[in-house]
Amino acid sequence: MNRRNLLKGLAAVPLLVAPIRRGWAAPERGSVSVTELQKNWKDFLAAGADVALTTEPLKRSNEEWKRLLTPGQYKILRKEGTERAFTSPLNDEKRSGVYVCAGCSLPLFTSAMKFDSGTGWPSFFTTIPGAFATKKDNFLIYTRTEYHCVRCGGHHGHVFDDGPPPTGQRWCNNGVALRFIPKSGKA
Ligand SMILES: [Zn+2]
Repeated sequence: MNRRNLLKGLAAVPLLVAPIRRGWAAPERGSVSVTELQKNWKDFLAAGADVALTTEPLKRSNEEWKRLLTPGQYKILRKEGTERAFTSPLNDEKRSGVYVCAGCSLPLFTSAMKFDSGTGWPSFFTTIPGAFATKKDNFLIYTRTEYHCVRCGGHHGHVFDDGPPPTGQRWCNNGVALRFIPKSGKA
């Protein structure tokens, strides 16, 4: 079985589906490089925003996490769950701003790193540097790259190599694991 048929056969499986390549809603073309986007991510941060500015590991007991997170957040962040596709309001979020970890407020992505993948999960083509650590996980017969917040260890999603230029990466994130902070009150 080739890869295409394999993907077709598993099309109902969340976070595994490679989006059909019929024209990405590509990130806005501009003169800004990925390196610049990563370096200047704070340009998207609202003044006085409540975010974590250290990646020093945050250790909490399971009981603490249960108390601090909603049941939905707990299932995704602490138990590597997957939210149902097309359920996150962040799929349609287009304002300028920063996406932080719902568990520990570490900044993870900016709005300039987001693209519309059509998969039903908020998707990004790169990340704020140093925000995530990765591990391989075996899902059915497919090996995926899981990624998690480097500060609290919370699971966020999986990264695939079928994203748009310029990186070719698709960071497929559970919306419930994110908190969006708009740069300003205006859309
Ligand atoms: Zn975190």
